[in-house]
Amino acid sequence: MQESEATDYFNEEQISRISSAFDLKHVETADDFLIFDTLDTGIRRRDIAIPQDVAIEILKALERGAERMEEYEGWVDHTIGFAEFAIHINTIGALTKGRNDKFTFETRPCRHPHEASPPHEVFGDHLYPIWRVTSADGSTCIEISRNSPLSTPLLPLLLENRQSRAQSTLKVFSTPTHDKSELEHRSVQLANSFLFELNARNKTPYLLRIRQQPPLRPRRMQEISYSVRFPKTQVPERVAALFSIASDLRRGSYTTSVLSFYQILEYYLPAAHRREAVRKVRKLVRSLDFDEEKDSSILKILSSVERSHGASEGEQLRTLIEECVPEEKMREFFALDHGVYFGKRGPISGVPTIQPNSGESLASQVAKRVYALRNRIVHAKDDARYTETSVLLPTSHEARHLYPDMELIRMLAIEVIVDNR
Ligand SMILES: [Zn+2]
Repeated sequence: MQESEATDYFNEEQISRISSAFDLKHVETADDFLIFDTLDTGIRRRDIAIPQDVAIEILKALERGAERMEEYEGWVDHTIGFAEFAIHINTIGALTKGRNDKFTFETRPCRHPHEASPPHEVFGDHLYPIWRVTSADGSTCIEISRNSPLSTPLLPLLLENRQSRAQSTLKVFSTPTHDKSELEHRSVQLANSFLFELNARNKTPYLLRIRQQPPLRPRRMQEISYSVRFPKTQVPERVAALFSIASDLRRGSYTTSVLSFYQILEYYLPAAHRREAVRKVRKLVRSLDFDEEKDSSILKILSSVERSHGASEGEQLRTLIEECVPEEKMREFFALDHGVYFGKRGPISGVPTIQPNSGESLASQVAKRVYALRNRIVHAKDDARYTETSVLLPTSHEARHLYPDMELIRMLAIEVIVDNR
């Protein structure tokens, strides 16, 4: 960057680089500040100011190739071997100066440009803890300290004199590299280990900030009825509560919705299961060759009951869908344009695809997919026998894409509620 550009104003290209790096919309440049609006839709807008000197440092870092991380709020600046994570601390464990200064730190000589030394630094009116540890060979330091310009707190403008406060961030200083993703991966691992030990050994529960990204929502897929009627559907209270929890998308992720709709299905599993068992027995009793004097006839009933008794949750779910959801409803749903979502190239891994024309009934395919998805959200087990059971976290990339599955399970829940009213 040339000196002249760094004085009063930034050129448009520089401003747009900052805007897109932070997902902000530039409004004006005034009083040594770049003023931005957030791009959030729905949530209240707020003005954000970045001081010019901070903006200069941010531009330098962006020019070096610094990039925001995918999963966490933070930056990787690989050409200088640096990663920075936004963190927050559970207030119960918040540090007082007295408590902070009791800690000792495993530091060693290193080559990084650390601005201050443990245990704390006074900056402005505030005291910031400086926690730093160094690896045995001196190549890597992990540090909690005042944020760098890249992690400038995006605070609203209303602060007096537009003085932005600093925040504590976690930094990993290592060696410059070409491999950005390797550095990010290693930094995440070090940060997680360090924070785990701070929590477990030192009772200081700092947490990494997850990068909040709005869940993706394609255009409304199903038709909406515009006629409002006096209600005919009786809904058990527990089911009504689950349905409203599932419909509350303010939680920022579809996993809660998927699970709550699933719990509605679960609520009706025993009833559907009993209904099916009764129907099968009735069919046997009514069959022409049924003879109550013959052991073989009685045994047929017995084994039918035993089979239904041993049904797994996955099988029970298929029964529920077969019993309560018309095949036609599912055909309609899958006839909507879902793109590649339910196919092999869909964004959700570890769940069976849906092939409407494969010959297998839709009820069976849907039951398998919904059950596998539910397991991925609920189970954290890492078992090689079940490749599909890698856990699907609410904060993950995949969770943002769950909308069509959520709509599918919602449709199933509605049909099941209506069928059992
Ligand atoms: Zn260092």
